Amino acid sequence: MKVLVIGPGGREHALVRSLLADPHVSEVHAAPGNAGMAADVPTHAVNAQDPDAVVALARELSADLVVIGPEAPLAAGVSDAVREAGFNIFGPSKAAAQLEASKAFAKDVMAEANVPTAMARVATTAEEAADALDAFGAPYVVKDDGLAAGKGVVVTEDRVTALAHAEACFAAGGTVVIEEFLDGPEVSLFVISDGKHAVPLSPAQDFKRIFDGDEGPNTGGMGAYTPLTWLPSGFVDEVMERVAYPTIREMAKRGTEFVGVLYCGLAVTSRGVRVIEFNARFGDPETQPVLARLKTPLGALLLAAARGELDDAEQLHWRPETAVGVVMASANYPDSPRKGDVISGIADAEALDDVFVLHAGTAESDDGETVTAGGRVLAVVGLGQDLVSARGTAYEGVVRISWDGAQYRRDIAEQAAEGRVHVPAQGQPAPGSAEGQAN
Ligand code: AMP
Repeated sequence: MKVLVIGPGGREHALVRSLLADPHVSEVHAAPGNAGMAADVPTHAVNAQDPDAVVALARELSADLVVIGPEAPLAAGVSDAVREAGFNIFGPSKAAAQLEASKAFAKDVMAEANVPTAMARVATTAEEAADALDAFGAPYVVKDDGLAAGKGVVVTEDRVTALAHAEACFAAGGTVVIEEFLDGPEVSLFVISDGKHAVPLSPAQDFKRIFDGDEGPNTGGMGAYTPLTWLPSGFVDEVMERVAYPTIREMAKRGTEFVGVLYCGLAVTSRGVRVIEFNARFGDPETQPVLARLKTPLGALLLAAARGELDDAEQLHWRPETAVGVVMASANYPDSPRKGDVISGIADAEALDDVFVLHAGTAESDDGETVTAGGRVLAVVGLGQDLVSARGTAYEGVVRISWDGAQYRRDIAEQAAEGRVHVPAQGQPAPGSAEGQAN
């Protein structure tokens, strides 16, 4: 089968690599792709957010499957157009992708489906925001209600900062969602859905802040690892039962079947699992280590989901190794990433056993050199028999790669490798909080 992957980033490069390894897949194409994808497959200079352009390319290639990577094409209705044109498409409709595009919509679906999440209030004025902040108390969680690539959320002990973020969102014409703070480690679980049936991938944890020790501003994600040895037993089954299936059923009931990746961003709190957010696509950078472990052919799995035949799909098989992905970002990321710095050492890193280098913001210069072309530039994934060894492998790859101003975190998966991830004792209601569902 011929597969067309839509998107420009590291997640799409990981998808391309896994699709190339699938014996059912004869050809992979990417649009627009990046320098790394261009080295592996034909790429096409098409605007990923333009539904007509993507449909035209799918026709030209006679694609058997179109896979959408990022959220922006989903919100632009690219899936709808490709589906209407008669292609198999892996990616939710614009209406279903509201689960990610609007936090208020996601909260409404969760309330209806009885999915455990943080208590929240929507605010449209400074007065409402102040009331909600005082109702929940510190630490304050203030979220821009819209697509913000993970950067529209402020978590702070400082009421003035929290209110200032809310006011900035109002000034930009938006609304905000203010939430109770969820303590406990975060988990990303990707659930592949065909609209009715669902299959979980291996749970992962990502690192959103730019600096070691979770300091500095939020980014799109600076690294990730999988699987998570510290999870309570039965965790994934519980998420499927209490979160994924109720959400998928609620979406179907509303006439907006969810076909694609239901990315469950979760917190493991003392009162059990809580949804922090949903996304409507694979997460970046978790996809890079997660797919490095997946042995099941990816193309056949995504095609089964696109056709609504996931109940017939083969059971997923995983490599026993642990995978750690470290993102290398350009100078000045996340503020105003510098472009055009010449990258060296990628081939040296890839020459190492069990190291994979996936490109995100890279381009080829006029002189044929690989240069930085975005904020997150590369993800270096290492496999190992445990976290200590997978970290060692990943960082061996990282130190071989360099460019002016390259930034990366030294502590990806370090706490987990040292057994320092603290999971609150389960079944302990926090003092003064409502037990059970918290919608
Ligand atoms: P979101 O865009 O909703 O995923 O939020 C981005 C990040 O903010 C999350 O990954 C968390 O680290 C943090 N966050 C969001 N909501 C909460 C919450 N209710 N309690 C604690 N941290 C949160």
